[in-house]
Amino acid sequence: MDLVITNGTVVTMNREREVLAGADVLVRQGRIARVGKQGGVDGAPRRTIDARGMLVIPGFVHGHLHACQTLFRNHADGLELLDWLRDRIWPLEAAHDRASMRAAADLTFAELIKGGSTAALDMGTVRHYDAVFESARDAGFRLTGGKTMMDVGQGVPAQLRETTADSLAESLRLAGQWHGTHDGRLRYAFAPRFVLSCTEGLLRQVADKARELSLRVHTHASESAAECDVVRQKTGNDNVAYLASLGISGDHVTLAHCVWLTAQEHRLLRESRTSVCHCPSSNLKLASGIAKIPELLAEGVRVSLGADGAPCNNNLDMLVEMRLAALIHKPRAGALAMPPMQVLELATLGGARALGLEAEVGSIEPGKRADLAVVDLRGPHASPRVEDAVGQLVYSGRSADVRHVLIDGRVVMRDRELLTMDEASVLAEADVHAGRLAELAGA
Ligand SMILES: [Zn+2]
Repeated sequence: MDLVITNGTVVTMNREREVLAGADVLVRQGRIARVGKQGGVDGAPRRTIDARGMLVIPGFVHGHLHACQTLFRNHADGLELLDWLRDRIWPLEAAHDRASMRAAADLTFAELIKGGSTAALDMGTVRHYDAVFESARDAGFRLTGGKTMMDVGQGVPAQLRETTADSLAESLRLAGQWHGTHDGRLRYAFAPRFVLSCTEGLLRQVADKARELSLRVHTHASESAAECDVVRQKTGNDNVAYLASLGISGDHVTLAHCVWLTAQEHRLLRESRTSVCHCPSSNLKLASGIAKIPELLAEGVRVSLGADGAPCNNNLDMLVEMRLAALIHKPRAGALAMPPMQVLELATLGGARALGLEAEVGSIEPGKRADLAVVDLRGPHASPRVEDAVGQLVYSGRSADVRHVLIDGRVVMRDRELLTMDEASVLAEADVHAGRLAELAGA
């Protein structure tokens, strides 16, 4: 049956960036069929969601996420990247079993949907990635993800060590089983962790296989200055330039962070159309630095926005990331840097590009998948009502303002109630498994 979201202020993110007041969005068979003033009803049976007084926006798309880490939230504070990984995150990831991975993923998708996010590019731990796909399948979430790949590295626990051959074989098994399933909602992406945990041979094979199979590649690069120093010692090259020299660049590649880049690497990112994922909370909390996002955007580099992992944030909340992305560059780049519409573009169309789904999601236009959020900004923290709905959303909006969420035309949250998951049992399971993992990891 058709569904109409009626009378909302529709932030289309179409080419003209139209914001349509008092407009309807007609959803038919999972896709957006019409946007605008519908006028009279044509008599077809339909369900309605009344969005009067509210915004209708494209669902947010995270360009970088670790669902496997959500149970580690608030278990790894006060550390910089390499210590954070070696002392806390890797031992915790090593403690995961399939049940705890499922609990972590369920908690992730519950939080994401409640905050208006409908899709993500996710990096797992080494094992048990099937559980993340199973969770996204059941939650109705749009996931592009993959197991992380780690065939070398200092301080890596035995349970996370794998051979180059095993790493590639398990990735290909997962891709074979999940890529393109559920009407294309679940997709596979290779996820070599970062240069310091991958041999050159592994990175070259990932580059080749990704091109051969038309799969995406998702990795971290140039997050902290210390990491870049070690990469230079190990490879004799700058991080992003090294990855590109092995074939890891192009419009199918997303590099998370990119805080520390050379001018040559800026050019390389632009010319290869590689996506950068900006993770402002994570870069601040791990004391990594502030990426030069206004410059990258001005140069024409593709940028998305992401929360990264819960233990380096400590939320998975696109409204928090948008607010930070809008604010943290201004002291250096000026008050006009990162205007709200540009920030919202990173969180929607930028993410869609990072997932290779720009023809399918990221805007409210006829023919696209109906991945939508309805946001109520009438609370005291966001009032009074203003003309600039996007500025109001980016500067004043909170995830608790998200009222309804649709993915593939299916209502997955209505009046803040999750319809595809039992929130109380998700939270209870998360507590049980988080405590168990912390004990196993000696945290
Ligand atoms: Zn990350």
